[in-house]
Amino acid sequence: MSQNLEQKMREILGSGTLLLREPMKDHTTFRVGGPADYFAEPRDADQTAALVRLAVEAGIPWMILGKGSNLLVSDKGYRGLVIHSSNMNRIETDGNHMKVEAGARMAAIGKAAYDAGLEGFAPLSGIPGTIGGAVVMNAGAYGGEIADVLESVDILDRGGERRRLTAEQAELGYRSSLIQRNGYVVLEAELVFRRGNREAIRAQMEKYSAARKEKQPLEYPSAGSTFRRPEGYFAGKLIEEAGLRGYAVGGAQVSEKHCGFVINRGGATARDIYRLMAEIVKKVKERSGVTLEPEVKLIGEFE
Ligand SMILES: Cc1cc2nc3c(=O)[nH]c(=O)nc-3n(C[C@H](O)[C@H](O)[C@H](O)COP(=O)(O)OP(=O)(O)OC[C@H]3O[C@@H](n4cnc5c(N)ncnc54)[C@H](O)[C@@H]3O)c2cc1C
Repeated sequence: MSQNLEQKMREILGSGTLLLREPMKDHTTFRVGGPADYFAEPRDADQTAALVRLAVEAGIPWMILGKGSNLLVSDKGYRGLVIHSSNMNRIETDGNHMKVEAGARMAAIGKAAYDAGLEGFAPLSGIPGTIGGAVVMNAGAYGGEIADVLESVDILDRGGERRRLTAEQAELGYRSSLIQRNGYVVLEAELVFRRGNREAIRAQMEKYSAARKEKQPLEYPSAGSTFRRPEGYFAGKLIEEAGLRGYAVGGAQVSEKHCGFVINRGGATARDIYRLMAEIVKKVKERSGVTLEPEVKLIGEFE
């Protein structure tokens, strides 16, 4: 690691945080992952852009981290700069519109929408990530998805320039977007809602929250659905049919409660999870001929 680079990052961040060799297991819901060389928490979009430009100039890898709820980070960690969006979490409501910074949590947006009597976010508010991570992959649940509420999104391109994309330009598809394909950074999103009845919104939120508790192994660390839904199938069902319910590699296990979730049942390494995912892909392919693809993003080296 270079002292010169560290110094430049500190100048950009001012009172913002820069940590060195920060364990990523403390920032992922799987609770695994080795150290990131540089771990920055910028206060705003300008600091974020300056960090991106610095990393590009210095030729080091960089990535944005939201809540780490869709990530598998290698035990060896990340040889580059992790930019954590946690301090960028402003939510501003204006009529039936909302401007939200990338690091705002889905639950906080759900609460703000409820407080303002705005409908359309209840199916999404239980997703345990940030709006930045959710926009990038067009997160969805219970028949809703980000595309339903996104009006526009401010992004940084890979060179660190800021631009606004309309929802249409962002090309949101099933767990995909142009932002993801081009490796852009989400800085801020503008959301639009319908006026609704607060009691009805609360009832919906409670219904979805109860459904999550009933169906998902929330008592264990995980990254949610490990695999994408293959067209015409459900990943969890294919995994179950391959006889893998409860199957374990080290501390990683196919959840007994929901076969679509790989969980850390205690003491798992990233390598355990990676090897279990590889076994699942192999056995499902043998049993059903379907190739599962990870939904979870793999960061760092696993081989
Ligand atoms: C218990 C559980 C339940 C879940 N349920 C659902 C569900 O119902 N539906 C669903 O879709 N997902 C679900 N997930 C997965 C996850 O919560 C979502 O994918 C979420 O949108 C990820 O957001 P994040 O902030 O945690 O992103 P992270 O995990 O931090 O990052 C994921 C990816 O997005 C990128 N990213 C993050 N922020 C930005 C940004 N500002 N700009 C550019 N790129 C960024 C990262 O670089 C990375 O590639 C669940 C996960 C868990 C643990």
